[in-house]
Formats: sequence, C-alpha cells, structure tokens
Amino acid sequence: MNKRNPIEDLAHLRHEFGEHGGVNMSIEASSTFTVIDPETMPELFAGRRGPDKGCYLYGRHFNPTVYNLGRQMAALECTEAAYCTASGMAAISGAVLGVCNAGDEIVASNAVYGGTYALFQDFLPVKTGIKTTFVDITDLDAVSSAITKRTKLIFAESVSNPTLRLANMPRLAEIAHGCGARLLIDNTFSPLIFRPAALGADIVVHSITKFISGASDVIAGAVCSTEDFIGELMDLHSGPLMLLGPTMDPHIASSVSLRIPHLPLRMAAHGERALEFSKRLDALGLDVMYPGLRQHPDHGLFNELRSTEYGYGGVFTIDAGDADTANELMSHLQNEQRFGYLAVSLGYFDTLMSCSGSSTSSEMSDDDQRAAGISPGLIRVSIGYTGTLEQRWAQLLDALTATGVVSPTHSGRYDGDTYESRRD
Ligand code: PLP
Repeated sequence: MNKRNPIEDLAHLRHEFGEHGGVNMSIEASSTFTVIDPETMPELFAGRRGPDKGCYLYGRHFNPTVYNLGRQMAALECTEAAYCTASGMAAISGAVLGVCNAGDEIVASNAVYGGTYALFQDFLPVKTGIKTTFVDITDLDAVSSAITKRTKLIFAESVSNPTLRLANMPRLAEIAHGCGARLLIDNTFSPLIFRPAALGADIVVHSITKFISGASDVIAGAVCSTEDFIGELMDLHSGPLMLLGPTMDPHIASSVSLRIPHLPLRMAAHGERALEFSKRLDALGLDVMYPGLRQHPDHGLFNELRSTEYGYGGVFTIDAGDADTANELMSHLQNEQRFGYLAVSLGYFDTLMSCSGSSTSSEMSDDDQRAAGISPGLIRVSIGYTGTLEQRWAQLLDALTATGVVSPTHSGRYDGDTYESRRD
C-alpha cells in the first residue's frame, strides 16, 4: 500500500514562487519556447530533454503552467506523473488509446458515465476496432469470465455514475494483472476519498470539470500514472495525447491549481451534507442511495478502502418512482424553492440535480440502463454546501411534500434525533 499523503505532497508542491515572487505560480502564456543553443532543438524532438529538465518545446506538448498542475494532480493521486487535458473525456480516450490497439479488448463496468459508455460501445469499435464487454463490475466472477486473450484493460469508475456502486479496486487490479491487463479507474466522483493507484490501479483519470474545479466553470481532465505511461501518451510519434491534441489551456491550469488547496475542505463539506440529507431522506422512507448509509451494498467495502477524512462523497440518488414525479420534484426544487439547479454535472458548490436516465445516461438503451440499475425516476443529486443545512433541508422537505413524494404528515421541521433513532 502506498503510504504517501497527498495533502503533505500538495503542500510541499505549493511552495513555488511566481515569476516576480508571487505567492501563486505565474501563467506561462506562450505556445512556443525558445532554445538558446540550436543543438537543444533536436534533443527536445528526440525526447532526451523535456519539462523534467526545464526544457519546453511547444504548448501542445508541454507548457510549464499545465505541467505544474500535472504535478499537483500526480500528488493528489499518489502517482509518479500526470498530464492535464482539455476534458475528462480527453483523459479517458487518451488513456484508452495509450493502452489498446486495434483488435484489443476492454472489460468495463456497465454503470459508467453515458459519454464513456458511448465511447466504448459505439465509437471505439467502429473507429479503432477496440471492443468492450460490459459487466456488473461488483460481480468479480463476471469480470473474470469476460476476460479473453485480447483483454488489455479493465475500466471502472471508483464510484459509479449514477448508481454509486463501488469498484473493488484491489480485487480488480489482481484480476487485471493476473492476465497481463491494466486497471484504469475514473476517480471523478471521489477525489481524495479514494487513491486508486494506492489500491492497485495502473492509471487514474479525472474529469476535473467536477469536484476538483468545484465551480462548474471549466471543462478539464487529467491522466495520472507512471512516468513511462505519461511519456508514451506524449510521444511525438505515437502518443495519443500529443497527436490528437486535447491540450489544456495554461489559464485553465492556473485557475484549477488555485482550487486544489481547498479541495479537501470542499470534499468534506459535500460529504457531511450528503450524509445528513441521505439519512434524513432514508428515515422519511424514500428510496435513497448513498454509500454512507449502512444499508448501501458497498458500505463496508467503502469503509475498508476510503480515506476517512473526506466522508462518502457529494452525490446521492433518490428514486422518485417515475420520470414525471422526478421532473416535478426537481422543477419545484429549482423554481419554487431555489434549492439548487436542474442541471447535469456534479461537484459544484450549489446543488445540481438531473434525471440520469434521460440525461447523462441517455446514451444507454433502456435495457442497458435497467441492467445497470438506472430507473426512469432516478434523480442524481450532487449536493452543494451553500446556505445552511437546515435552510436547505426545509426547502427539500417542502418540495417533497408539495409534490406528494412524502406525505404531509412528515412535513414538520426535522428533529435530527427523532429521524435517526427511528431508523437506527
Ligand atoms: N467521467 C465521469 C464519471 C463523468 O461524470 C464525466 C462527465 O460527466 C466524465 C468522465 C467526462 O468528463 P468531461 O465532461 O470533463 O469530459
């Protein structure tokens, strides 16, 4: 087990001065870089010199500000290196193309973000000949059975979108390594809570767009792995990230790097509110799913694998029964209560709610949604930490009552002890 502490590594990395002694790193807004000595140029192109030696060539290859954020992402994920991309999808597709060639196969979780599902199910087979078998990733026998001689990759989200099931990363790593494949984990839902590389993952990807950004104002991603793998992705002749060009802008890198220092506080705040609300909703008899609830099927495994300081994540789901009720509830929460926004995405400081089946999982067929556990009335709630907890709870309770999701007899002010003791 990797004993590195990302918080300590990040604090250490922050102690770099900007160009004029600024407390924040400077933004290097150059797309191209000079060499003093012409002999250096071929060295750069041959890969014998690079950013690790302070040598830069061209912004699509490496940029100092983006490189610096990459070091912070590597510290966050306890990997040797990381490369930041223009989006989470760029990180996923770049990493997959870095591992797999035409004819190779992937075994992937059947509960993943819809864009990832479409990439694996529809795009890759047609464009590259890379095929994916989807399985219930919590069924380790099913994962093993799906492996063939051509399998190069097992892919899962640490915490699945939107079903909130936990991938057993140590066991999946064993299965992958036992057949010469690699384990790729998308840790978008649980930065800091899980360190997949310390649990056996070979590659970790992020949609920085979500919790790491925290303000729903940038689209960004990262691939975190070994120096060798990141080097392969950036190879001038064959690297998918170098050649397909999903480059992060240095201004975005600078902006994101200023949010990483308070990511631990934000993750803990999301987690506290999500736990409290999901307990209260559960006590009201709602069909709520949250890994912090004892009855969650992966609660025990979550406790075994997580870093305890950051809770159980900022997302829970409520099954409102059908799409119409779900829509009515979300509409009421946004338009009457100002509780949050009816919008996709997650990790924002305010609450975001969407019906996954008709939005971020709509790339999946009805049958595939059913198999993954996504019902038409399933609302994914990325809980924010603005306002006070009781103010937000009162809004939520009013909306639940007004839309008939809970009976009016439950509409009184919440007494935390009463609800919790009823359940416990
Ligand atoms: N991974 C997960 C788990 C996601 O939820 C998303 C987007 O919702 C992505 C990847 C894609 O990220 P991006 O939108 O930054 O490309």
